[in-house]
Amino acid sequence: MGSESVKVVVRCRPLNDREKALSCKMVLSMDLQRCQCFIEKPGAVDEPPKQFTFDGTYYIDQATEQMYNEIAYPLVEGVTEGYNGTIFAYGQTGSGKSFTMQGVSEPATQKGVIPRAFEHIFESIQCAENTKFLVRASYLEIYNEEIRDLLGSDTKQRLELKEHPERGVYVRDLSMHTVHSVGECERILEKGWRNRAVGYTLMNKDSSRSHSIFTIHLEICSTDSSGQDHLRAGKLNLVDLAGSERQSKTGATGERLREATKINLSLSALGNVISALVDGRSRYIPYRDSKLTRLLQDSLGGNTRTLMIACLSPADNNYEESLSTLRYANRAKSIQNRPRINEDPKDALLREYQEEIKKLRALLTGQLSTADLSTLLAGQFSESSPAVPSRPQSTPTEERKEKIKEEYEERLSKLQAEYNAEQESKAKLQEDIAALRSSYESKLSSLEKAQASRGSSVPKNVGASCTSQVAEEELCMSTDPMRHGTVEETSQTKLSEKDPDRAVLLESSDATAPGPLDQKHVLERLQQLEQEVVGGEQARNKELQQRQRQRKKLADQRKAQLVHALSENSEESENVLLNVYNSIQEEVHAKNQMLVKVQGKLKAAKLEIRDLQAEFEVERNDYLATIRRLEKEGQLLHSLLERMVPLVRRDCNYSNLDRLKKEAVWDEDSATWRLPDVMVQKTTLPSVTPKASARRGSGSDAGEAFMVEEDRYKQMLDRSDSENIASSYFKSKRASQLLGSDTAKAHVNVAGHLSVSGSNMNLPVSSDAILPRPFRLESLDVPVSNEPHGLV
Ligand code: ADP
Ligand code: MG
Repeated sequence: MGSESVKVVVRCRPLNDREKALSCKMVLSMDLQRCQCFIEKPGAVDEPPKQFTFDGTYYIDQATEQMYNEIAYPLVEGVTEGYNGTIFAYGQTGSGKSFTMQGVSEPATQKGVIPRAFEHIFESIQCAENTKFLVRASYLEIYNEEIRDLLGSDTKQRLELKEHPERGVYVRDLSMHTVHSVGECERILEKGWRNRAVGYTLMNKDSSRSHSIFTIHLEICSTDSSGQDHLRAGKLNLVDLAGSERQSKTGATGERLREATKINLSLSALGNVISALVDGRSRYIPYRDSKLTRLLQDSLGGNTRTLMIACLSPADNNYEESLSTLRYANRAKSIQNRPRINEDPKDALLREYQEEIKKLRALLTGQLSTADLSTLLAGQFSESSPAVPSRPQSTPTEERKEKIKEEYEERLSKLQAEYNAEQESKAKLQEDIAALRSSYESKLSSLEKAQASRGSSVPKNVGASCTSQVAEEELCMSTDPMRHGTVEETSQTKLSEKDPDRAVLLESSDATAPGPLDQKHVLERLQQLEQEVVGGEQARNKELQQRQRQRKKLADQRKAQLVHALSENSEESENVLLNVYNSIQEEVHAKNQMLVKVQGKLKAAKLEIRDLQAEFEVERNDYLATIRRLEKEGQLLHSLLERMVPLVRRDCNYSNLDRLKKEAVWDEDSATWRLPDVMVQKTTLPSVTPKASARRGSGSDAGEAFMVEEDRYKQMLDRSDSENIASSYFKSKRASQLLGSDTAKAHVNVAGHLSVSGSNMNLPVSSDAILPRPFRLESLDVPVSNEPHGLV
């Protein structure tokens, strides 16, 4: 398994209107032949420009078309062969990432990488011989470190990342959409694009603040000359990253600043992953630091071919950002990936489909009766038996016959076309035609029988409901229609939940003499399955194939050119040393020149070190500012909590902050804290009378009693709201204490209670110390409320 480095190209956009209005200077220049990019520091004329070499450089005049053909084409082609591929656009906001990935429809040369990949993939699929493809698409966004499905029914819902030992990292519940054409892909791209979160900063008012990943999943089944199927799977990730600018420059505040922090968190995590991969010493690669790096894990140092497009603004006021982008890109060049063809994918849906298709075909061929081929070929369909009474006695028989005939003919022509394209043997074709014919025949004959025994209960049409659903439903809703078919009431009882259609079919296949409707289901299901897969439609289109070859050739030429250019860059200095010179003067001259060059390089390197240090300082301050802000935020929350905790009832587990902190668990997958449930520990004790309390001596019992008492006080407090305590209680009590004879009794009781409480005084929380008097008296059932009336 060979390794190959991540390909990196840079693209520079023209000055925009704002930059022109500010009379910005261009600080970027490129040598397209040598794939070199130069950036001059504004105001530093004596400093040589910094120089970077990439796998491709695209200046203001180069269109996306050229870039795609030269560098993206081989990568996408690889995906149709079973490799994984990732193309991502990196750069500050407004540098042209979306312009490159999404593109514009006018002029056509500036159509984006994503729509070009659609066209490319479907072109390859249609030209493929003896190969079938299942194409599915998904589109997600990472916004504020939360993953959302841009094509899901609820785009605001947060999705979780999961890890599977074989599948790797994946997004749970991400919707997958089977696509059959370029048009369908474009429509779902459009739909998802509209759902992206858009933020507003000074840089570019409609630029997206989220990372988005459009993925095309391919499952490939090719049949070799011996009729054996081989399965492969390829995946193409098309990533449009959020802006890489530093937060201080954007003027972002509040929510925007928070966003920026998180965006930068993902991007710095990406940077750290890249650094760790490039620096051969670190064995730990921090993929887990952000959602983005976890999702792109395979694209960075894994089983994927990766292309990074670094987008740049040429304006002098973006010098720092452009330089940082160039450095980032330059580092990424050294990442080594280990792409390989994904053979025999374990969870391939296509395998299930193919197996079922085979089974269904066998089912049809197995029912070969003594079909009179010549009669059928002559087209003697007209005087046959009546059709399936799916709605008994309502539709004219003739009409239904016609329908079956159409169906048969359609199927026949499809099969014929398919076999032509696949250039399969005539014998096999005839076998299938015969099978179809026999099914047609048996269908007609069983229709006759069915009509004769009309009145008996007939199962409703299951398969049809599925097929029509596929057709009707918006393509984006056709997320694996096989499994979503709305199953109407059927006479079958053993319906598998996972795949009701199949359950019907498998059951019918067991039966010795399948009924007419099962036949129909078989055909419908077959048709439905075959509609899901695409491939080979243009296998005989010479022109298209020629064009494809041409494009491949162009990409190969470009590659050779690149290798040549890069080797030239490195050979120059060696030549000076190895050359044989005619005279000493000549040699001195040549070596002097080389010395000057090397001195220039040395100077540049020293400047680079200085700049890097300065930049590092700025970055460090940025991070420190973020840390300080977060610390302040944390402190505020903590202070609030500390104030609030005493207000929580003590029998609730949320009254103990330390214990809660210990019990809280960080969930890596959802990136959230899992907190214990709120629990109130209620102990029901016998009603607290002074005597009962007195008998209990232990501290814990007393503690429980206190809780119960506390509850009671709360109830009383509630009650007391409705009482006029001032006039009906305090006054009278004082009066009764002084005057009434009953008061003495009350006094004794109070004292009695006091003595009881006294025994509990060593409790951490003593009730008497904090109890408001009225409650206590009331709790002791002191008959005080009657007295005031007599006295006041
Ligand atoms: P980003 O996605 O990086 O924030 P955009 O792709 O939205 O930036 O580009 C910002 C603006 O610059 C858009 O108006 C776009 O049309 C324009 N632009 C970007 N790249 C080019 C280019 N290569 N040629 C012409 N215009 C471009
Ligand atoms: Mg954008």
